[in-house]
Amino acid sequence: MSELLVLIDHSEGKPRKVSLQLLNAARTVAEGIGADVAAVWLGTGGADNADVLGANGATKLYTWDSEDAHGYVTLPQVEALQQIIDNNDVAGLITSSSNHVKDVAARLAIRVDAGVITDATNLEIEDGKVVATKEVFGGDTITQCRVAEGKFPIWTIGANAFPVEESGGGAAEVVSIDVSLSEAAQKSKVTSVEIQSGGDRPDIGEAAIVVSGGRGLGDEEGFRLMEELADTLGAGVGASRAATDAGWYPHRFQIGQTGRTISPSLYIASGISGAIQHRAGMQTAQHIVAVNKDAEAPIFSIVDFGIVGDLYDVVPKLVEEIKSRKG
Ligand SMILES: Cc1cc2nc3c(=O)[nH]c(=O)nc-3n(C[C@H](O)[C@H](O)[C@H](O)COP(=O)(O)OP(=O)(O)OC[C@H]3O[C@@H](n4cnc5c(N)ncnc54)[C@H](O)[C@@H]3O)c2cc1C
Repeated sequence: MSELLVLIDHSEGKPRKVSLQLLNAARTVAEGIGADVAAVWLGTGGADNADVLGANGATKLYTWDSEDAHGYVTLPQVEALQQIIDNNDVAGLITSSSNHVKDVAARLAIRVDAGVITDATNLEIEDGKVVATKEVFGGDTITQCRVAEGKFPIWTIGANAFPVEESGGGAAEVVSIDVSLSEAAQKSKVTSVEIQSGGDRPDIGEAAIVVSGGRGLGDEEGFRLMEELADTLGAGVGASRAATDAGWYPHRFQIGQTGRTISPSLYIASGISGAIQHRAGMQTAQHIVAVNKDAEAPIFSIVDFGIVGDLYDVVPKLVEEIKSRKG
């Protein structure tokens, strides 16, 4: 049977949540096209995760247990994937939508003659073909598209587009591969990696809930209120560009066209007008709540629940209510 590959995004020896979501997406697609799901782990520690990847639907796990997978930039991953594709019957590849992985997907596609759809928010089977949903023009238009040319499709999918759902499968069969890198792949080396986190809060790209603040906060102190709300919900904190440009919150938390694209289960926007460039980064959130004192603010056109009011009246009451319900 052909295989649908899922490139596992991992950190500190564990698969990231997005990878388990991708395995769930892959199961549906594999069932529709008559393929098996095979995970691909590039870097050390893959075999230790055969259980969890199997429980989430991978029947096979290709691992390249080498520091080189991360030691050099992009090409080692491309060459490892190319080797797997050249030696197996591959029906497609699913990866996350992180910038690095999209770089890998694009270069790989050229080498193996595949078609790529980036930033898909859903994959469905229609008449035996895989149809992807993808937003274009900064989220203004939603398209249904499929790869019509090339040997097979590659889809990159953002975090939280699919839930994590265990399949109940046993450990994936581990297949180790060895990759001898070309000279070109060893030309640029990663010498150190510094992860800038949001402290104890979850990364906004993976968080189930994101609380976000904009110019309406008035100053950087307003973000203490956002953080307080976030901490009552176990959420990450994001910001509009107006807020990050004003220096009220670091740029790495900016959400939108020129910031991060996120898709949490719940997005709570306070003092954000909802400009199209901001919406491009958050409108695939499953539930959107906004607090804005202007009833005509564009954000209200995409909310599930909108509160017209001063955020400094509304948000403290929200924090109080959540705290009292949590006991
Ligand atoms: C090429 C380009 C790329 C861009 N990329 C991004 C991007 O990635 N992300 C992004 O966010 N923007 C981006 N922008 C900027 C974008 O166009 C908007 O200017 C920006 O999103 C506005 O941020 P804001 O909603 O915080 O501020 P504003 O638009 O000024 O809105 C503030 C809102 O707060 C409300 N408000 C004020 N006081 C209160 C209060 N006390 N209580 C409740 N509500 C209150 C107001 O009614 C208003 O609706 C980009 C622009 C361009 C041209």
